[in-house]
Amino acid sequence: MSEIRSDNLIGSLDAPATPTAGAASLPTIAALEAHLAPYAAHSSQSRGRRHHEPPPSARTEFQRDRDRIVHSTAFRRLEYKTQVFVNHEGDLFRTRLTHSLEVAQIARSVARNLRVNEDLVEAISLAHDLGHTPFGHAGQDALNECMRDYGGFEHNLQSLAVVDDLEEHYGAFDGLNLCFETREGILKHCSRENARRLGELGERFLQGRQPSIEAQIANLADEIAYNNHDVDDGLRSGLLTIDQLAQVELWRTHYDTARRDYPQIEGRRLIHETVRRIINTLIVDLIDTTSRNIAQHAPQSLDDVRRAPPLVAHSDAIAAQAAALKRFLFNNLYRHYRVMRMANKARRVIAGLFDAFLDDPRLLPPNYQTPDASRQPRLIAHYIAGMTDRYASKEYQRLFVVDGN
Ligand code: MG
Repeated sequence: MSEIRSDNLIGSLDAPATPTAGAASLPTIAALEAHLAPYAAHSSQSRGRRHHEPPPSARTEFQRDRDRIVHSTAFRRLEYKTQVFVNHEGDLFRTRLTHSLEVAQIARSVARNLRVNEDLVEAISLAHDLGHTPFGHAGQDALNECMRDYGGFEHNLQSLAVVDDLEEHYGAFDGLNLCFETREGILKHCSRENARRLGELGERFLQGRQPSIEAQIANLADEIAYNNHDVDDGLRSGLLTIDQLAQVELWRTHYDTARRDYPQIEGRRLIHETVRRIINTLIVDLIDTTSRNIAQHAPQSLDDVRRAPPLVAHSDAIAAQAAALKRFLFNNLYRHYRVMRMANKARRVIAGLFDAFLDDPRLLPPNYQTPDASRQPRLIAHYIAGMTDRYASKEYQRLFVVDGN
């Protein structure tokens, strides 16, 4: 255990934000973030927003970002977008919304232990999938294929487009006008070509730099969340079996100890007991390994973090086990014939809609039509990407089924 972790005892993590002398009854922003480590992202030192706004009162800049994301239309759409299973397949499967909430929970746990900015990791986690199409990865692949001659489609860039331009919530600007650090965290990947046109936000991809620790945490929390909830959903759906999972070391280890500790439990309770142990192991390993990396590189500022190698990481042993679980899910769940059938249907719906709209843009709602033909494909992509699974299916029916309405 590194020295950084050892002073992160629960008592110090909850240090109250006391108002400074002479201040009004509201705590100052500095007091709200006084517990953060020097390498954390401090909202008072943010690179700012694209459009100038007066600072918030009673909350930090990153809290304001988090709040804007929760109130956005795109966030509510996540409830009806596929993670792996299409929304109507069952009420208990993860959707993009519950996935994002699980990512935020994991990311905040890690952030608090590392004394970095929980509000920023929460904002990034809740926003990280805002740009996803309906029907999960099959939908994104189909839309990317449709957009091949028009600049392609990539869900990270689309998430950025949602928060920068597409949300219509504020009188003074398009989008949510989020802080640089939140936008930086949302943009997890980016091609060099796109990075060049993104200016300051794209620089790190050209210079080989890292984003904040908060962004790195959200990225790995995403993996921890989906690897585990996909096991849970895979078992619930019957597409995976416990016998199959025995070949995965990470599962087998915790399944065996759960059975040893609670010989009387079985079924759902045994699955949940196993999954929670795996999640806990991954989180604790991430905190420990990252604490060691931080101690070794001793960053004194967010700029030091950006210049350092990636600091948020699993140990080699756990990374190998997590990778094996991921491979298992790829081969046995994401390539399961029933998932493939759904993906095939999704491709037809997305490609069918795109082709019909491109062929005759007058079929589009007026606010997605443009006299500038070169912009039309991108507007169609924005329209389709914003659809929920159900809306896309209905729209397909309206266009292609004679008695559809
Ligand atoms: Mg995700």
